[in-house]
Amino acid sequence: MPSYTAPVKDMTFILNEVLNIGQYANLPGYSDATPDLVSAILEEGAKLCENELAPLNHSGDQEGCTRHADGSVTTPKGFKAAYDLLTESGWTSLTADPKYGGQGLPHVLGFCVEEMMVSSNMAFTMYPGLSAGARAAIEIDGTDAQKEIYMHKMVAGDWTGTMNLTEPHCGTDLGLLRTKAEPNGDGSYAITGTKIFISAGEHDLAENIIHLVLARLPDAPKGVKGISLFIVPKFNINDDGTLGDRNNLICGSIEEKMGIHANSTCVMNYDGAKGFLLGEPHKGLRSMFIMMNAARIGVSVQGYGQSEVAYQNAVAYANDRIQGRALSGPKAPDKAADPIIVHPDVRRMLMNARAFNEAARASALWCAMLIDLSHDAETEEERQWADDIVSLLTPVMKGVFTDRGYEYATSSQQVFGGHGYITEHGMDQFVRDARITQIYEGANGIQALDLVGRKLAAHGGRAIQAFFKLVGSFLSANKDNEKMADFVGPLSAALADLQASTMWLMQNGMANPDNAGAGSTAYMHMMGHVLLGYQWAQMAKISLDQLDAGTSDPTFYENKLITGRHYMKRRLPETKAQRAELEAGADNLMALDAANF
Ligand SMILES: Cc1cc2nc3c(=O)[nH]c(=O)nc-3n(C[C@H](O)[C@H](O)[C@H](O)COP(=O)(O)OP(=O)(O)OC[C@H]3O[C@@H](n4cnc5c(N)ncnc54)[C@H](O)[C@@H]3O)c2cc1C
Repeated sequence: MPSYTAPVKDMTFILNEVLNIGQYANLPGYSDATPDLVSAILEEGAKLCENELAPLNHSGDQEGCTRHADGSVTTPKGFKAAYDLLTESGWTSLTADPKYGGQGLPHVLGFCVEEMMVSSNMAFTMYPGLSAGARAAIEIDGTDAQKEIYMHKMVAGDWTGTMNLTEPHCGTDLGLLRTKAEPNGDGSYAITGTKIFISAGEHDLAENIIHLVLARLPDAPKGVKGISLFIVPKFNINDDGTLGDRNNLICGSIEEKMGIHANSTCVMNYDGAKGFLLGEPHKGLRSMFIMMNAARIGVSVQGYGQSEVAYQNAVAYANDRIQGRALSGPKAPDKAADPIIVHPDVRRMLMNARAFNEAARASALWCAMLIDLSHDAETEEERQWADDIVSLLTPVMKGVFTDRGYEYATSSQQVFGGHGYITEHGMDQFVRDARITQIYEGANGIQALDLVGRKLAAHGGRAIQAFFKLVGSFLSANKDNEKMADFVGPLSAALADLQASTMWLMQNGMANPDNAGAGSTAYMHMMGHVLLGYQWAQMAKISLDQLDAGTSDPTFYENKLITGRHYMKRRLPETKAQRAELEAGADNLMALDAANF
């Protein structure tokens, strides 16, 4: 059976040394996040995930969810008790506004706990995860009365939330959606239509489920400009806040799927269900994007979270499994063979995953801190800068961290050889669970298009210029530091590739939009490399300084340098090939007649 140990030490390193969150004590939430409190939360979160959630991961996958004839759904054994523990211990309210019963702690801390939860049990974590997205939309776009009705219950976890976009004939292209919303004449609407693939659409964990549903009003213009968002509770809510009768909506079936079996992915049928407009008419997509942006960063955490747990188990296996002898001569002569960790190719797989996981974690926590700064930094300039960087990097993290997360979950499975393919080892589950992260919340191809089509050009390229300046300033400040040469050289080269590719896109993407579409995934991965390389360069600088200062824990910092050098030498040069792919343009890609495929 696989095991999981929360990377508390690495998280603490990032929070305290890389991000230095102590410098933001003037911001709401950060003043409460003293080193002692942070450490207590990480330790308690680790216990919850290691001892309660991880043991339910494999059994939940095997058992799956069960739908009953009345449309109700039972989650796997142990899930309800674990969910109760989660809510009773306040984990669902960690970063929520104290106004609604939340603890108001920084997002950066919430992301640490989120990673532990997805690594230990991704299917379980999606139940509270979807709620957090739904909550965000109500908090931003809801009326005071709506906030009063829903926020406290959702923050407490008594009620969960869902997002209902997808219909059988429309996923990416939401302009095609058909679900109707007709005024009831009393301020409410009758919602009718079928939504598919709705995560956590029905379950037995909470008293009520608050569905956020995209639908069209009778006078709606065609396309995406005619979509509105509605709050549609499973149980109607009485004026005094108690639960009333059952709304006209039902889970029609649970999808049979490749992974995340313990999360109920539902077909939801709305048959004149009572709903309430959230935000302005025809502006539903904008509200939904509030949810989607937060959710996309959450999915990026799922990507490296699956890679992390798969890596941990691969390391344990590689130290235990004996096969063959080291090329340089026996390393365990007393045994019939050496452990497979002696083989360079096995190490290649482990080091690739490790180097990605640590830098992805540093990137995501940095972005979580920028989310806090985008709301609460002192000056408008700082808030705008933080918001620009988060907006730019959201599709990059979603696309790259989930593509890589799946890749490294798979290569960690490869470390097990044939045993990785056998269910009892649990490695196949990490691969199957990781796979969905590349598809939902906008397939990764769509993230790449969002990056090149919208994010690069937004505000005259302000965000990409800010990102270039940030990385460029770090490189300039460290260019004469010989000890940093292993980091500065490769990062400078990767940044140059990215800058040249950005110019190429500006010159060739406008003239022929297919050029932008054809190179978008390569470009997104290039930016992912620069982002991860930048994190490694910063972590290297801190590690070198610590070693120079005679740290009491040299192994930790030396290992950081070894892992970072691996990334710089063996992964970062991929930007060369990605740039060549981008610059190949669209002509040949579009040449084959569709009939000849
Ligand atoms: C397990 C699971 C859980 C899910 N949970 C939810 C949920 O909770 N709520 C919800 O609303 N939805 C949910 N979804 C739906 C998910 O978000 C969609 O499947 C996803 O957005 C893709 O839509 P689609 O499946 O219709 O694919 P399509 O839109 O048909 O896309 C097919 C392929 O074509 C590509 N493509 C499409 N259009 C373009 C374009 N213009 N340019 C380039 N490439 C393009 C896509 O990248 C993709 O590779 C879930 C799906 C699954 C499988």
